[in-house]
Amino acid sequence: MGRWVMSGESPLGWYSSLAFMPLRGTNCNSFLLLSTTLSVLRSLAQLSPRLVVGLILVFSLLCADASSSWGQEPKRPFYEDLGDYRQQINQLKDNFKAQFGYELLDLELGWKPDEIKEITLAFSKLPETFLHIPGLKGFYHLSKLRAAPEGVPVDDVPAATFPGFRTVYRSSNLSYHVEVDDQEPRIEFFNTLFYEDRDKLQNIVQHEMAHVFDIFQRYLSFSPEWLKISKFNLIHLPALDGRQGDDYLFAALNDPDTGHYAPVSTRQLSTYSRQSPQEDFANSASAYINYPYFRYSHPKRYQFLKNKVFGGREYFSETKMNYQDKVVFDFETALTGRDWDDVISIFREVGRDYSPEIESELIERLKKNLADSPDSVRDAKLGVATCYLYSPNALEVRRNLIRKKRVPLQTLLEVRRCGLMSRRSFERDFALWPMRSIHFFKNKGRAQLQFLDPALPLAGARGFETRYLWRIFYEGSNVHMSEGAYRVEGVRPGAIKIDLEKSAMGTLNLPTGKPLVLELGAQRVHPREFKKFNSNPVKIRFVIQPGFNYEAHGKPIIKIIYPDRPEFEKLN
Ligand SMILES: [Zn+2]
Repeated sequence: MGRWVMSGESPLGWYSSLAFMPLRGTNCNSFLLLSTTLSVLRSLAQLSPRLVVGLILVFSLLCADASSSWGQEPKRPFYEDLGDYRQQINQLKDNFKAQFGYELLDLELGWKPDEIKEITLAFSKLPETFLHIPGLKGFYHLSKLRAAPEGVPVDDVPAATFPGFRTVYRSSNLSYHVEVDDQEPRIEFFNTLFYEDRDKLQNIVQHEMAHVFDIFQRYLSFSPEWLKISKFNLIHLPALDGRQGDDYLFAALNDPDTGHYAPVSTRQLSTYSRQSPQEDFANSASAYINYPYFRYSHPKRYQFLKNKVFGGREYFSETKMNYQDKVVFDFETALTGRDWDDVISIFREVGRDYSPEIESELIERLKKNLADSPDSVRDAKLGVATCYLYSPNALEVRRNLIRKKRVPLQTLLEVRRCGLMSRRSFERDFALWPMRSIHFFKNKGRAQLQFLDPALPLAGARGFETRYLWRIFYEGSNVHMSEGAYRVEGVRPGAIKIDLEKSAMGTLNLPTGKPLVLELGAQRVHPREFKKFNSNPVKIRFVIQPGFNYEAHGKPIIKIIYPDRPEFEKLN
């Protein structure tokens, strides 16, 4: 956190602000936050290309641990003053400190008894390794994230972990550095967290504590083992005014060809874990505690966490079944017992990460069950369950239920997830979302563009094809020197890498040493309904440095540099 890229300048040139992206304490799980942020982006986007880039970066920072209350009436915990209020709070805080080793610090806002009780419940599920970490004093309760640039909404960010860091390649010692910001290690919890229901609140708190653990473990998330499991690769990012021999930034990019990253919470976008190894790590920790299928769906991550993070503690018992058999077994058991809510939970768990084979197996079995005579309760519940899957066949089942008047559309739309997956929400909102985390680099000498398109899985689920359209300009010019398109069909994870040469119309000839602007947009086209939607375009600025090497060589070792603070004394 800490260093806002709005102001832009840094010793490494402003483009270096890209490196601030892997900051944590901020996760982009919020649908609502994204939409509101985008309207701000849209209105500011005209100002200058530089600002656009700045805002997008800020946006990716802020989004981070955000979560929102989509379609749910917030229920503010209510506390009745019983006279011994202060004493009761102090007692609860003392208990928290004794049990977990951290203080609940009053700063702008005081902790209320109900809030302390919820935080206590969340902490009671954490492994011993997350508790009593020397160097972490405690947690603050603030109304909202401060230090955010004007105009960027922060109301939906529930928590943030400090310090942040930046990722720099130091030429003087030929090494990759993660340079941790000089800030007090802490988590700030914001008002919006306490509007969440218990499961989500706990998930967020545990996710943040995983970031804290990571910080104090010399960033396990940057260890060669984790980077290998999670398939993040380092790329080098030259500063706009960079020269040979200068320091430069680096970033860890997810692998678009890898189908699975850590499963996401219901508040997060499907691309959330692909943002950085840190988010993938924190989401894996939440998954380890809360998601029964994690050990089956992500066995390598599970083993790593079991041994290196959770000290062997496990939350779900082991079976000899594989992932698909386990899901099918649970599903059949739920159907036999007519436990429709259990069916919904199973689908929700499966939908945290797109697994086409498991989805089609479930849909086939679901269809067989629905073929029996109509049953309004079962039909409505099974209809809701399909909202958690991405397969277009799930949408087909839902449409049939509506068409045959077995389930009213309104009943489905009242369920938050079904609302998010609905035509209306896609066409009016998700289809307009700009691409994010956009990087230009070269791979084996060929120009590449990589980015996240969080709405892509949803586009596939609703039967849309996506065409990515890019254009490159000289900075300050309105005439593009090159353009191209790249088409994607079906349900795909929302990470895309485009070979600019292959996708270019005509020959691609990019000049070196000149400031260039690349504009990127996505067009969603429905092949049967003849609908077309264009995303809001985004621009990035870059310079191709002659002879600059964009790829990390061999197996890079990343050195963690902690600030000179007593909290990190033992780590430096
Ligand atoms: Zn996070």
